[in-house]
Formats: sequence, C-alpha cells, structure tokens
Amino acid sequence: MYCFEFYNCTKAQLEKRKIYGAIEENSYLKVVTSSNDSHATYKKAKGLRFICYDKKYDRNTSYRQTYFRYNLPNAHPIGKKRNTLWRCCYCGKKLKKREIEVDHLIPVYKAKRQRHWQKKLPNGVNDKTNLVAACRHCNRMKSSKTGLWYVRGLLGQHQLYWKIIYPLTLVITTILLGVIIYYL
Ligand SMILES: [Zn+2]
Repeated sequence: MYCFEFYNCTKAQLEKRKIYGAIEENSYLKVVTSSNDSHATYKKAKGLRFICYDKKYDRNTSYRQTYFRYNLPNAHPIGKKRNTLWRCCYCGKKLKKREIEVDHLIPVYKAKRQRHWQKKLPNGVNDKTNLVAACRHCNRMKSSKTGLWYVRGLLGQHQLYWKIIYPLTLVITTILLGVIIYYL
C-alpha cells in the first residue's frame, strides 16, 4: 500500500486526472493506493505538489496501545516501592498513564519524507522501538524535530540514564556552588 499526500489542490482537480478516493486530512488530500495502482497514480499526479510513501510510514490508530503493550511502568511514586508511573523520556518527569503522550521518536513527518529515517525504520514508524512516553510540554516542544531531541529520547528511554544523570547533576551543582561561595 502506498499513500499520496497532495498539497494545494482540490478533489475536483484530482478527479479530473482520474485520481479518486481522496480524503481530507490536516492541510492535504490523501489517497491510498494498492501497490499495483501506485505507479499509475504517480504518473497521473505529474505536475502536482505531492509526497508519496509506503503506508508503514504513516501514523496508525493503535500505536498508543502498542506502546503500553511493551512498556510497563518504570518509576515509583514517592514513598512507594512498586512502579506505577512512567517517565517522560525527554525531561524525566514521572507521569501517570493518562498524562502520557506517546510520541514517535523519529517523527512521522520526517519518516514520510526522508529516506535517511526510513532506513532506520524497517518495520515502519509505529514499531515498538520508535514509540516513547513524553509529557505534554516536551511533546509540543519536540513536534517533528530530530537532532538533539532524538539523542535525548534515545538515552531517556533507559532508566539507568536517569539514575546516573540526577546524582551527577546534584554533584556538579554542589561543586559549582562550593566554588562560587569560596571565591565570594
Ligand atoms: Zn517531558
């Protein structure tokens, strides 16, 4: 299955070119074709502004469930031993299930468009390895960015990272404060 996303055109314009079944989505028109029809659609679309990608690089409807199927709670509330909370992989904030926004570490926007990211996702964008927990704030800030966000997400998925980073920050802050007080 292949998806075509058409920009700056109308359903009527597509139908004139015999491209049928367009659905309105966000700021574009989407047409899903079978593998056999995709080449023909590609030809008919010549001259229009569009992107084309394998359907596995599109967001599906069940990725939230996929995330929770493979990720049990990994942090515990203060004073309790049992883990009932998850962690935002970008800032480390502890989150209840309903507060979690499941984020695509490699953003859907980029997976649809860039071969470089597609190569990293042989099983598609909704694969369990590409899903992370994020707080609302981080998810808004990250949006479809990669770069440092990608690195932070890769590291932040591991609980060991937070076990190291918190004491390390505390030690560095203490040393800095000590130095400042010493020279004042
Ligand atoms: Zn966060």
